Amino acid sequence: MSDLTRMTATEIAGLVAGGGTSAVEVTQAHLDRIAAVDDRVNAFLHVDVEGALAAAREVDARRAAGERLGPLAGVPVAVKDVLTTKGVPTTVGSKILEGWRPPYDSTIVQRLRAAGTVMLGKTNMDEFAMGSSTEYSAYGPTHNPWDLSRIPGGSGGGSAAALAAYEAPLAIGSDTGGSIRQPGAVTGTVGAKPTYGGTSRYGLVAFSSSLDTPGPCARTVLDAALLHEVIGGHDPRDSTSIPQPVPDVVTAAKLGATGDLTGVKLGVVTEFAGEGGEPGVMAAFREAVDTLTKLGAEIVEVSCPHFTYALPAYYLIAPSECSSNLARFDGVRFGLRVGDDGNRSLEEVMSLTREAGFGPEVKRRIMIGTYALSSGYYDAYYGQAQKVRTLITRDFTAAFERVDALISPTTPFVAFPIGARTADPYQMYLADLFTIPTNLYGGPGISVPCGLSDGLPVGLQVMAPTMADDRMYRVAAALESAVGTFTPPAL
Ligand code: GLN
Repeated sequence: MSDLTRMTATEIAGLVAGGGTSAVEVTQAHLDRIAAVDDRVNAFLHVDVEGALAAAREVDARRAAGERLGPLAGVPVAVKDVLTTKGVPTTVGSKILEGWRPPYDSTIVQRLRAAGTVMLGKTNMDEFAMGSSTEYSAYGPTHNPWDLSRIPGGSGGGSAAALAAYEAPLAIGSDTGGSIRQPGAVTGTVGAKPTYGGTSRYGLVAFSSSLDTPGPCARTVLDAALLHEVIGGHDPRDSTSIPQPVPDVVTAAKLGATGDLTGVKLGVVTEFAGEGGEPGVMAAFREAVDTLTKLGAEIVEVSCPHFTYALPAYYLIAPSECSSNLARFDGVRFGLRVGDDGNRSLEEVMSLTREAGFGPEVKRRIMIGTYALSSGYYDAYYGQAQKVRTLITRDFTAAFERVDALISPTTPFVAFPIGARTADPYQMYLADLFTIPTNLYGGPGISVPCGLSDGLPVGLQVMAPTMADDRMYRVAAALESAVGTFTPPAL
């Protein structure tokens, strides 16, 4: 394997800027690595060889012309297939969008291009970002580089696996209930969910619009912060985008890397302790808490009594919004159309298209959501779930009056074997037990590797107040400086 694929984004950018290598060489090294391992990992749904090399050549030309390049110029990035890419296939892991080439770039992808990063391709995901293992992709599961018989988390398992397999130094994910942080945790990589509205949803194929948040994935906290800075900030094309600058996450990550958390007060959520995290995960978490104490942080217990209701509330709110959002996939406007033989009614064609185009989990969500929103049930289900959401937000607000940030394990369990949880949807939903409260509140959360359990990675989650994303980067970088990064066995 070329050394270039082992480097962090920061190292690659420095090398490219200093003329030690070219963007083309870096890109080619990663394309070679993808060619060598991706038949086993299946992190990518589409590799854009020509587009990547062309983008890299452009960066090299700009450098040769003496242009000042951005901090991530020449660094390859893998993009979750939930974001539109102009002329490049975007499937959302679904058959219903197979072959669709969007006519426009999402804001995130536009900003990646403007910053001189090189998009390698689109990564595998659970269909429409609904799932926790990437097993619900219509294009086959992604395999965890730590153990190919195990899941890489989901829904953004492709992005996380691409990082862990050294196919890309940076990746983009989207987090509705945990889909950036949970794959980060089980692949030993870093995944950050920004404050809702801190990164643009323009061109993000909608699942649950009040929760969907695109964000950065990387192998180090500083790399994630650099990527966050490039993609974040106000976008007038997203009505829920926050009209404020990105919090200074890069400075915070650098401050954290000094390993000093003196004066930082962290809260351990009491309710999560009783939620049945695997013993190995809880042990790694406790050890990380000790480490944070040694770094100078003050640790207190904080009760968030309504977090226990987050999972059921999420599984009413997210499917409700999905049932509305996915109505646009009707066989008329995008992608697949089935049964349009001139003899069938429009309704029959729509129904045949959806029957063939959507997988079982997506259909389950649409049906649950349609039911929860139907007249007579609306108040009892959707309305009630929204009230719970408010109570969870109040828990966070009260907690942040006492502490700077909250910490927990990112997931209750390590990567499980492929097939172990597909028979029972509830078992799959439990993967997001600790990540969902943050989404309902809208604040930022990050997962940083904190140790191993039976040779598999465990993540620690840091949750911060809305628009205080910098705080979570500081804590995560401090922990990283003490425990190091984690490398999977060679593929
Ligand atoms: N696993 C959760 C779900 O299935 C979260 C998914 C996500 O964050 N996109 O809905």
